Amino acid sequence: MGAEIAQSLAFIRGRIAAAAARAGRSADSVSIVAVTKGQPPEAIRAAVEAGHTVFGENRVQEAKAKIPLCPGHLHWHMIGHLQSNKARDAVHFFDMVESIDSLSLAVEVNKFADKAAKTLPILLEVNVAGESSKFGYNPNTLLAQLLEINALPKLEIHGLMTVAPWSAEPEKVRPVFRKLREIKEQCEQKLGAPLPYLSMGMSGDFEVAVEEGATIVRIGTALFGPRPKLAREADGP
Ligand SMILES: *Cc1c(COP(=O)(O)O)cnc(C)c1O
Repeated sequence: MGAEIAQSLAFIRGRIAAAAARAGRSADSVSIVAVTKGQPPEAIRAAVEAGHTVFGENRVQEAKAKIPLCPGHLHWHMIGHLQSNKARDAVHFFDMVESIDSLSLAVEVNKFADKAAKTLPILLEVNVAGESSKFGYNPNTLLAQLLEINALPKLEIHGLMTVAPWSAEPEKVRPVFRKLREIKEQCEQKLGAPLPYLSMGMSGDFEVAVEEGATIVRIGTALFGPRPKLAREADGP
């Protein structure tokens, strides 16, 4: 397993570097969150041996069981929908929450970060395509709530995240990535400060995302292979 993952990682890094070069960007400006939902701790250890340290999980419950079984120096991103009643655990287990999608959730996460004497980097998730099956802010609501979220003392807004609609043809979702970049620019204007992160692009579309400005790509299957069946079934909308 270890050699395969090291190979996939090198292959993905190469594709990212090529996509970044096409956009006149440096490959260093893009980092990979290795998405380990549905994968056992052994898969994570194999990626760690290949030099990887940043991982993503989409469920607090699964992360809570798995993270303690993994090496202690890793960085964990929460990338799935977060319910307010899981905010305390999310603050405890994750180094960044990429999926803040409402003011009430932000308030709750801020409260537990305060209790834990911790400042938490967050991304705001945007439902760019307005899909009813997906979580994430409507762009107008995001802009309306942005300053209130920014005023929460224990949260640091580092950028935006989106999950693009699924398509067999990655070129079709390019406008979604471009739009997220534009929304980020509107947020920067409103905040009067730069936002370094755009988390967009997954196994099927990360090259297009990098061409459109992604600084984080979240890669699961292209790195670890198909998820075990149970996790895949639980994946759906
Ligand atoms: C599962 C997941 C990914 C990774 O998906 P792959 O297609 O396996 O690369 C990325 N982002 C989120 C939010 C996910 O839930």
